[in-house]
Amino acid sequence: MRAMVLKGPNTPFVPMQVPDPVAGPGEAVARVLACGSGLTIQHIKAGRIAAEFPRIIGHEITGEIVATGAGVRGLAIGDAVTAYYYLNCGHCRWCLASLEPLCANSGGNVGRNCDGGYAEYIKLPAHIFIKLPEGLDYKAHPAEIGVITDALATPYKVLKRARIRAGETVAVFGAGGGVGIHQVMMARWARARVIAVDLARNKFDACRKAGADEVVDASSGGVAQALLDLTKGEGVDVAIDYVSSTSTLEAGAKALGRRGRLVILGGAAQRFEVPSRELLLKEQDLLGSRYVTRSEILETLDLVARREVWPIVTEIRPLAEAEALHERLERGQVIGRAALLM
Ligand SMILES: [Zn+2]
Repeated sequence: MRAMVLKGPNTPFVPMQVPDPVAGPGEAVARVLACGSGLTIQHIKAGRIAAEFPRIIGHEITGEIVATGAGVRGLAIGDAVTAYYYLNCGHCRWCLASLEPLCANSGGNVGRNCDGGYAEYIKLPAHIFIKLPEGLDYKAHPAEIGVITDALATPYKVLKRARIRAGETVAVFGAGGGVGIHQVMMARWARARVIAVDLARNKFDACRKAGADEVVDASSGGVAQALLDLTKGEGVDVAIDYVSSTSTLEAGAKALGRRGRLVILGGAAQRFEVPSRELLLKEQDLLGSRYVTRSEILETLDLVARREVWPIVTEIRPLAEAEALHERLERGQVIGRAALLM
């Protein structure tokens, strides 16, 4: 099959013919129609996230099952699928409690610890594939459907993690990023008042279009004060931080109002300080939010099937143009998500 292979960290893609994957016991193989291209996998390519090489990256896939190995139940040839990003075990107490991101035996990630979607075919443990529900026109929109499993489902999960209610004020730090902009969209869908916070001025219009009521330019500093001003000194109900640097985390915490919730997702994952007295007096919560559960992916797929929300994919290119697309990702030039077609 054709594949884009990374031979090592911080190297260009090598277009290659590699052997077609063969489904062993408990595994399945899907033909890949499209695969999302976001900053997470660019971090792997650039060597900022460790991975095993040589590697075929990519996890936000739309595909069709073409083979199943011995003992596989619940998947049949021809089934339309996407993939869960984590190689969870499926049988530990956390998996059984539908909290798969916390799996005690995690094998890592699709496209990082096993080969991913930048190829004609992808082989995964069968339980990692997720069947697409009826009503999603995945053949017409394989790029958009593929990115749901991460770019859209991750923000959907945050709505629940942070208990976001209609009418609350939600600040999104890193709102111009591929997941951040979908967080703006999902918070708006949840009928919150949304304030987008970002450095990238070229993405402010897209943030507004995705549903931001206000945009705060973080490049001029004073973000916490700006958020307090926009809430008449009350503070925001929820701050969601996709940057997670010391300064964004501390600004988010400082801008929280009574019963405010700060949600921390990946990014720089730096240390930060908060005054415990504020947490106590205002009954505030600090929350980590890690990827999504399988059921949250199914719920997000259903939302898209009903056209409640629609993924923002602004650049769709053939697999052969992966290198050029990743250069644009690295420079922060992509609005929303990009995707490759196989
Ligand atoms: Zn597990």
